[in-house]
Amino acid sequence: MTQSNEDRKALIIGCGVAGPVLAMYLQRVGITPIIYEGRSEPRDEEGFFLNLAKNGTDVLETLGIEDEVLENGHQSNRLVFQNHKQKRLGENPSETVVIKRGLLTKALREAATERGITVEFGKRLVDVQVPHDDMAIAYFEDGTEAHGDFLVGCDGIHSQTRRSMFPNAPEPEYTGIIDSGAFTHNDSIPQSDGVMRMTFGVDGFFGYQKVPTGEIFWFENHERKQAPDRAELETIPQAEWKEKLLHLHKDDHEEVTEIIRSTDGEIGKWPVYDLPALPTWHTKTVCLIGDAAHATSPHVGQGASLAMEDAIVLAKCVRDLENAQDAFERFESLRRDRVEEIVEISRETGNQKAPSNIVARKIRDLILPFFLKRGVENFEKIYSYRVDWAEPV
Ligand SMILES: Cc1cc2nc3c(=O)[nH]c(=O)nc-3n(C[C@H](O)[C@H](O)[C@H](O)COP(=O)(O)OP(=O)(O)OC[C@H]3O[C@@H](n4cnc5c(N)ncnc54)[C@H](O)[C@@H]3O)c2cc1C
Repeated sequence: MTQSNEDRKALIIGCGVAGPVLAMYLQRVGITPIIYEGRSEPRDEEGFFLNLAKNGTDVLETLGIEDEVLENGHQSNRLVFQNHKQKRLGENPSETVVIKRGLLTKALREAATERGITVEFGKRLVDVQVPHDDMAIAYFEDGTEAHGDFLVGCDGIHSQTRRSMFPNAPEPEYTGIIDSGAFTHNDSIPQSDGVMRMTFGVDGFFGYQKVPTGEIFWFENHERKQAPDRAELETIPQAEWKEKLLHLHKDDHEEVTEIIRSTDGEIGKWPVYDLPALPTWHTKTVCLIGDAAHATSPHVGQGASLAMEDAIVLAKCVRDLENAQDAFERFESLRRDRVEEIVEISRETGNQKAPSNIVARKIRDLILPFFLKRGVENFEKIYSYRVDWAEPV
């Protein structure tokens, strides 16, 4: 006899972006989801900002939570590209919502808990076992375990679900770029009117938007060939890092250095990784989604949106197919080509941002008009993806 959805329990590992969105969609199809988050408590003030594109916000709209989740976001109407002398190079009419990452994950988590979904903190997954074909067991660092009909790893780029289930899977790869960024206030910088300004600088790339509250959201990318040790990066004092960025951008137009100089708060720094294509994303009762399956570099602003797309598509597959294995197989076949293409496009985009030397820079400047035109086409294709909830898979 087929098990009804009402009797099925899904273990969801990770309460970032994919986890709560998947949980809410699974609840919609009658399954009981429980989210296990490794952190001991929420850290909603932590982190940087991200751009949510239409393909991501549509997933929230279908769920009926777009307004509450994006309450603290700011509209970005287009990207304007300029060179280091502030000469306009082109623009991309991409509409996105700019939002602090911590506020996004807080709003998603609260939307889930308000709908009665359990989120357990302090549950760091250490192992997954599949004793037979219709169950999965999660083992946590605190010595506890949880049993479910299936388990979905939404535990991000360094996913323990992936490492437990696929010990030979490739590890995330450093892309040769350091991402940096922060928030500041500076009255001398004019209002952006919904425009995110991007500068192809001499030794790095710089983007910012001044949002209606007057706060400036900015980020910077520069090349560093060897992967830095994360701990080493974290121990660099703020003042030293700020000086380094000012030095890297010393030949760029005044707004860039002015924004960096006026930043008093912490400037975040992250080596950029993406994930080589995995041989598979699932077993019979365990599946990976979001960054755990296909982490992309941030250069086309798609990681969170793809995680949301994954969530709705996986829930549709679980709704329409007999068992978890069939659902996971269909899910992977529906998603793989799209996400792998975006990981590729994002990496290529990153390579154009941070040329390593003067020759590479001259070549980049020559091909930039072509690159920007192709960028618009790529963005249109990426953003126009829609998932129709009602349509069966
Ligand atoms: C600097 C930077 C800029 C970015 N910019 C953008 C952007 O502009 N647009 C965009 O769309 N995306 C952007 N991204 C990517 C985006 O943040 C991710 O793609 C997105 O968060 C992926 O969602 P996820 O749910 O798969 O993973 P995450 O959001 O990383 O969530 C994973 C969750 O799992 C938890 N977890 C981890 N390990 C365990 C464990 N063992 N047990 C239990 N829980 C665990 C974590 O604590 C976390 O809460 C950016 C990323 C970075 C680093």
